[in-house]
Amino acid sequence: MFAYTTEKLKLLLRKGRHIMVWGLLLSMLVGVLELGTPVEEAMQAGRNKLRSHAASGEIIIVGIDALAEEEIGEWPWSYDKLAHMIENLNKAGAKRIFFDFPTNARKSSSENAGFAKALKDSNAQVYLNARFDVTKAGGNVQNKIPPGIFRKHAKLVSNNFRSGPFKTVESLPYNVMVGDLPVDNIAAVIAGETDSPFSVFPIDYSIDVNTIPYISASDLLAENNLRDQIFGKDVIIGLNNTNLSQEYWILGKSYSVSVFISALGAETLRTGKPIEFGWLPILLIIYTATWFANKIKQKIIRRSSKLTFLATLFILPGIAESQGVFITILPALFYLTVFTVGSFWIRHSRSYKLRGTINEISGLPNLTALREFDMPGEYALIAARIQNFVEVATTLPANSEGAFVKQISNRLAFGTSGETLFQGDEGIFFWRVPTEQRDILADQLSALQAIFRNPVPVGDSRYDLDICFGIDVDSERSLSNRMSSALLAAQGAHESGEHWKFYDPSHQQETAWKLSMLGELDDAIDNGELWVAFQPKLDLRTNSITGAEALVRWTHPTKGDISPEDFVLAAEKHNRIHKLTEFVLSESLTLAHHFNASGIAFDIAVNLSSRLLDQPGLSEMIDRVFSGRTLSRTRLMLEVTETAAISSSDDAMQQLQAVRAMGIGISIDDYGTGFSTLDYLKKCPAGEVKIDRSFVSNLVHSNSDRIMVNSTIELAHSLGQVVVAEGVEDKQTLKALRDMKCDMVQGYLIGRPMQFPALQKFMQEFAGKNAA
Ligand code: C2E
Ligand code: CA
Ligand code: CA
Repeated sequence: MFAYTTEKLKLLLRKGRHIMVWGLLLSMLVGVLELGTPVEEAMQAGRNKLRSHAASGEIIIVGIDALAEEEIGEWPWSYDKLAHMIENLNKAGAKRIFFDFPTNARKSSSENAGFAKALKDSNAQVYLNARFDVTKAGGNVQNKIPPGIFRKHAKLVSNNFRSGPFKTVESLPYNVMVGDLPVDNIAAVIAGETDSPFSVFPIDYSIDVNTIPYISASDLLAENNLRDQIFGKDVIIGLNNTNLSQEYWILGKSYSVSVFISALGAETLRTGKPIEFGWLPILLIIYTATWFANKIKQKIIRRSSKLTFLATLFILPGIAESQGVFITILPALFYLTVFTVGSFWIRHSRSYKLRGTINEISGLPNLTALREFDMPGEYALIAARIQNFVEVATTLPANSEGAFVKQISNRLAFGTSGETLFQGDEGIFFWRVPTEQRDILADQLSALQAIFRNPVPVGDSRYDLDICFGIDVDSERSLSNRMSSALLAAQGAHESGEHWKFYDPSHQQETAWKLSMLGELDDAIDNGELWVAFQPKLDLRTNSITGAEALVRWTHPTKGDISPEDFVLAAEKHNRIHKLTEFVLSESLTLAHHFNASGIAFDIAVNLSSRLLDQPGLSEMIDRVFSGRTLSRTRLMLEVTETAAISSSDDAMQQLQAVRAMGIGISIDDYGTGFSTLDYLKKCPAGEVKIDRSFVSNLVHSNSDRIMVNSTIELAHSLGQVVVAEGVEDKQTLKALRDMKCDMVQGYLIGRPMQFPALQKFMQEFAGKNAA
């Protein structure tokens, strides 16, 4: 799980980083191309409204406006009028006089002389306008500099500036070059900030343009009593008629003309030099901030950080502007939007993707995830199969399946060396092992097997799990094929009593053959290809052979010996099990009769498929095989596997009871592989319990196996049942069983399954040995 999510997260983070870098690049593009201007300005206008404040009143505009034109005549006027304005301004006590329009027109020499005289006589310093214009067609530059006779008595100022795409003027230059002539901007001169050549300053539009004192040129020329308004103030004379002057957009207000821009610029500078930060610093700051925020583990903090950044972007400029610092935030805002939307999208697609790929109970990635989440290179695919998962899961306390699976996956994690564990249905797990690790695979799987020998505790109970592993190493094939193969191998391992198995491709042909073989099974019985082997059972209490288990054999004319595990299962599936069992029973009774008739008390055990319990007719079959025989029915014992027995229906249980009532013994086979409870053991009419050989074979070395065998013996004895240990292969095991008071043993140590004549011989030899 961890590996899976971290892998997935890494992938997403990589995607996240892509989004960040792309977002940054796009935002820089937005910044460089000033694509955000309209939005930026709208926001700026909003902020300005909030911060709106009045002008100082120290700068007065005299406008040559529609009213003045009406009274004086159409612009351009004679310079006499301009001279008259200067005179009147002096009379009203103006501090300085600034012209916001050029005075370079060719006029008659008397007109020029009159104006020059007014300049000369002026007490207030007069600043004439020097600017350049770029003619629209051809881009020729036209410098508009007042003639020398004016310049002798006046200084120069400029009102050149750049306007944006929507006629907005964001900033003013401190000075410009008009031809070869460096000229300071009006605003800079008014505010006395003329020492910043070749740079610009932003205009503070939060100064309400309507609060700048305004006098119409017609009033000034009419000499209306203006002293109160003008005395000691700086005056800018400008054209204020949209027929005469270009229009500019006063941010958040209305269109206006150059003179107001100049006045606003002057008002801005008066309060101190503003600092223009541009868009790059704040963009980089936000980028870095998101980069760090992304590293924060806590989801809530990570997500809320974006909100914080957003709020900062909205609040910060307002605060900064009030301190004279101007920031362009749109590229940063754009970046934050891309980043937020991007990460939302990633998260969304992630949860969407993860939703279908996680097992809801355990939180482990499922098989869809296995298919989706590719592992590069060659690897072995391991399937772990918990054979009794379903049985256990159905008996678990409510809501504890998650804990149960967690226990399993924790154990499996010991052998997966950090590889992601994927969970399928019903106790199936997969993981991948890189080819380099194949050498240690066997060790890992044995270790896992050993770990699973300890029961899994859930709630108050402990559950024994029967786990097998299958391995597919053929990286060439499709993943689905490999999954089936690994599972098949695991099942194969289970069936042959091994812990794990490699997938063997020849197995497939075998499966195909298995099907065809069924047709032959019927004939096989008739042709004598089927026969029964008998494995002796030793009674430890009397130290004598008191019976045998009948084990069916098939010697195929071309295939040779076929394992009963293969064809019994097939026979069950295809309804040949009646015929087969009847055959085995009949052979067994013949053998038992032989010994009993010759004075040797001899019981015969026959394996009974659970199929025969599920269908009616078992008693009839037994009646049939016993008919015409003198053998006592008590000589027959039927072995029913534990799993078959506990999962059997009430009908099956009744059949068992009926058989028991006929005097036939019942033995619980493969005891320990299922999950019978004491309650069940009491209910089942079994007189014998056969401990599965998987517990017996390792008895000497495994503590838990020893405990299991010992407690089974005690339990069975307390219920009056006989205990048989099967699969005894060595003397140590035999001794241990004897010490534990096991009643009977069966296994290679005593004798292998053998043919009737061989068993006869074996019995004689054994009796002789014992007698000696
Ligand atoms: P089972 O009933 O558990 O039979 C015991 C199996 O363990 C037999 O395998 C036997 O040969 C083997 N065995 C006995 N002693 C030892 C030992 O010391 N060590 C080892 N490693 N194995 C030992 P077999 O004959 O291959 O039979 C396999 C299974 O096939 C049986 O398991 C039983 O479930 C089924 N089977 C056999 N004959 C019949 C039959 O006539 N009818 C039905 N329904 N099933 C049968
Ligand atoms: Ca058996
Ligand atoms: Ca058995």
